[in-house]
Amino acid sequence: MTKEELWEAVLAQIKFKISKANFATWFRNTEIIDKKGNAIIISVPNAFSKEWLEQKYNKFILKILHNLDREIKEVKYVISHGQPKKQETEDLSVSDIVPDQLELEEYKINKLTNINPRYTFENFVVGPFNEMAHAAATAVTKNPGRIYNPLFIYGGVGLGKTHLLQAIGNKIIEDFPEKTVRYIPAERFISGIVNSIRNHDIESFKLEYQKVDVLIIDDIQFLAGKEKTQEEFFHLFNSLYERDKQIVLSSDRPPKAIPSLEERLRSRFEGGMIADIGLPDYETRLAILKTKIKQKGTNLPEKILSFIASNIKNNIRELEGALNRLVAYQKLNNKTPTLEVAQSLLKNLIQGPKKVITAKQLIKTVAEFYDLKEKDLLAPSRKKEVVKPRQIVMYLLREELKYSYPAIGRKLGGKDHTTIIYGCEKISKELEKNESLAEELRLIRQRIVSG
Ligand code: ADP
Ligand code: MG
Repeated sequence: MTKEELWEAVLAQIKFKISKANFATWFRNTEIIDKKGNAIIISVPNAFSKEWLEQKYNKFILKILHNLDREIKEVKYVISHGQPKKQETEDLSVSDIVPDQLELEEYKINKLTNINPRYTFENFVVGPFNEMAHAAATAVTKNPGRIYNPLFIYGGVGLGKTHLLQAIGNKIIEDFPEKTVRYIPAERFISGIVNSIRNHDIESFKLEYQKVDVLIIDDIQFLAGKEKTQEEFFHLFNSLYERDKQIVLSSDRPPKAIPSLEERLRSRFEGGMIADIGLPDYETRLAILKTKIKQKGTNLPEKILSFIASNIKNNIRELEGALNRLVAYQKLNNKTPTLEVAQSLLKNLIQGPKKVITAKQLIKTVAEFYDLKEKDLLAPSRKKEVVKPRQIVMYLLREELKYSYPAIGRKLGGKDHTTIIYGCEKISKELEKNESLAEELRLIRQRIVSG
């Protein structure tokens, strides 16, 4: 048997045993590339598949291989860096591909500062909708702590708040290497405080933050209603402020509109500079697309870019998402999409309301993804392989369907709402540091929208 025949025989057996969707996700673009002694080397398209096959399917694959060839005692997985195998005649459709996988970020988030070097002023496009925020941000980097303190930037989702905040951080690190800069999403800051209170360790938590010269907290609206955190933050704020340490905050709304925010904090937030980011105009949207496509080292016809710019208006992240799809198509099929193809590839991004899905479909999708039965997710088992998917269900019901915590509890076989809150928070915290979990969620969401 040749390597190809051997792998085909293995795949034929696997196909019978797992769902079609799982098969497509985990076994597409895999092949046997070598046999060394008793080991078979299988190439897989990315790190995520590698981990998954090693952890979840290895025994299964080995057993089948061993049955076909008694000599085989071990399977190794390596990531292939070549082009994924292409189907001969048909173009790969967007639902076949995961655009972000093609874009594997080379950038590393700095562990001390939490800052991602990809967010810079150089690649931040300025237009009338964000020029005030941009100007304030640049001013802050010239003389941290002395000009606008705090700097408070607000605006809707996907409009560049995080980018701008981190650009401030990157620029200060570059120009003032002696300064300690720290970026932290408010949610993580809050859970840090909560945990350190629980562990009777709040003093060392505070000390750590008091050491910084520049404190950047993203999405501060999450402080709403968190009294204990607000109190600790108030003291930290004062301690930094009095020593001319720069504080930069972002929020999805102005300080006034943050519900149950202590008055004294609100007035601190309003005491510096408040700048908002609005919606980008057509010209800026086009300029952003051109900047991004250049960064990706490729190009698309002007009429396609202008098609995207005229149809996606409210969210720069979605603008980028649309571009990623077309670039993915271009790379996989080795040709530039026509306007018609582009329109069809972007159909579900552009055609207004998202498809409505039910809780039942969502649970089914997650169960399928993790190769579990729906009833496993609903039963009270504490097994590790069930707990995480169940928490993902909680998280997605909350994020995608806006279910209340008690309603999620009811859907999941009568769980207490505190269990649900814990589960949702666990996932959102984990998502920040665990890239593969983020990838899993991306894939799950993709399945949810593609039905
Ligand atoms: P927010 O934090 O407001 O939700 P982000 O900062 O995460 O938004 O921005 C979403 C995406 O859009 C990011 O990839 C970011 O790089 C990009 N982006 C936002 N604003 C701009 C801009 N003015 N120029 C270039 N890219 C931008
Ligand atoms: Mg953000």
